[in-house]
Amino acid sequence: MTCVQCGKCAKVCEANAITQNPKGVYMINKKLCTGCGKCKEVCPFGVLVKEPEMPTSSKCIACGICVKACPMEVLEIVEK
Ligand code: SF4
Ligand code: SF4
Ligand code: SF4
Repeated sequence: MTCVQCGKCAKVCEANAITQNPKGVYMINKKLCTGCGKCKEVCPFGVLVKEPEMPTSSKCIACGICVKACPMEVLEIVEK
């Protein structure tokens, strides 16, 4: 699953570690992230990952590598 930039993870983050970059992509500031995992709980699409062995959470950053890699051309990056 890819991130649809709904912002639910950012709203729930008490550390204000998730903010939008100029292109509207929600990014996690690893320096601010406490690893609480609340963002993972609210993401409706299972995009956010918080593995127990990792100190911080991670998410799709709309880098577009999967778009280029998919042989069926199913994915696209859309700028709103
Ligand atoms: S795991 Fe990090 S980014 Fe997610 S809600 Fe907690 S502090 Fe915020
Ligand atoms: S990671 Fe999930 S909750 Fe956060 S903006 Fe993307 S789709 Fe929404
Ligand atoms: S390859 Fe990039 S755009 Fe695709 S799901 Fe992973 S982080 Fe998101």
